[in-house]
Amino acid sequence: MQVILTNFTPESERAIAAAAKLSTSQLSAVELKQRLSPEQIDNLLSQLISSGHLSPFEHANFTFVIDGISRVASHQLVRHRIASYTQQSQRYVSLRKLNYVTPATIGAKRELEAKYREMVQAAHKLYCEMLDAGVPAEDARYVLPSAMETKLVMTMNARELMHACSLRLCLRAQWELVELFQRIKQEVEKVAPRLGAELKPKCFALGYCDERQSCGLFPTLKEIKGGVATSAK
Ligand SMILES: Cc1cc2nc3c(=O)[nH]c(=O)nc-3n(C[C@H](O)[C@H](O)[C@H](O)COP(=O)(O)OP(=O)(O)OC[C@H]3O[C@@H](n4cnc5c(N)ncnc54)[C@H](O)[C@@H]3O)c2cc1C
Repeated sequence: MQVILTNFTPESERAIAAAAKLSTSQLSAVELKQRLSPEQIDNLLSQLISSGHLSPFEHANFTFVIDGISRVASHQLVRHRIASYTQQSQRYVSLRKLNYVTPATIGAKRELEAKYREMVQAAHKLYCEMLDAGVPAEDARYVLPSAMETKLVMTMNARELMHACSLRLCLRAQWELVELFQRIKQEVEKVAPRLGAELKPKCFALGYCDERQSCGLFPTLKEIKGGVATSAK
């Protein structure tokens, strides 16, 4: 999997803070953007998050090139609706080169991995046979497995990034999405460290784990009520 941040709102944290400050200031957003100190920006972002006033975060956009995730992962990713996506088409692109994802749980079991590989290769062979026989790629693709790799471009604003990360950085989420959003977080941290630090699983905001079983970072409510643990931080 490869995740590259290709475009982003310059000085995104400053832009968010200036937009937020504008609502209570006589100054223009341009002046505010120039005048705000790093401490003021930091404080403003903290206030916005703690008060749940999140709309200013929509002024910062991030575009990622995402290569080599499975169709299993891309199907889950595009459920996040407040974003823009462009995905490589299986209608217009003939996938004669076989690239697919093998989950570590399968890769670790030699015999199963061999059967998995054979199954994927057999499906891909039939796909190529159908292309050779003149079946259009849009129909031949029906036989391709969800393990097939895909490429896409995704643009998300900072508010939706925080929301998506709250769900997908949870270690109870599916591993490929966890890995994808960990890489997204790393990319954002390079250009907007303050913002990147806010890309966290939901338990940090809740103060507890709302999943059936905790990964150990925070106790579940049941554990808290039962007195099993008060904090796993
Ligand atoms: C661990 C995990 C397991 C999952 N399992 C399943 C599953 O088994 N089956 C399944 O179908 N999905 C599943 N999903 C997907 C999940 O239901 C959501 O579709 C996905 O996480 C997108 O998140 P979202 O709906 O909060 O918001 P997004 O699409 O990211 O939108 C962000 C926010 O905008 C608001 N919003 C967006 N659109 C609307 C709207 N039309 N109306 C009102 N408010 C809106 C909501 O507040 C929403 O939270 C799973 C997700 C996770 C993280």
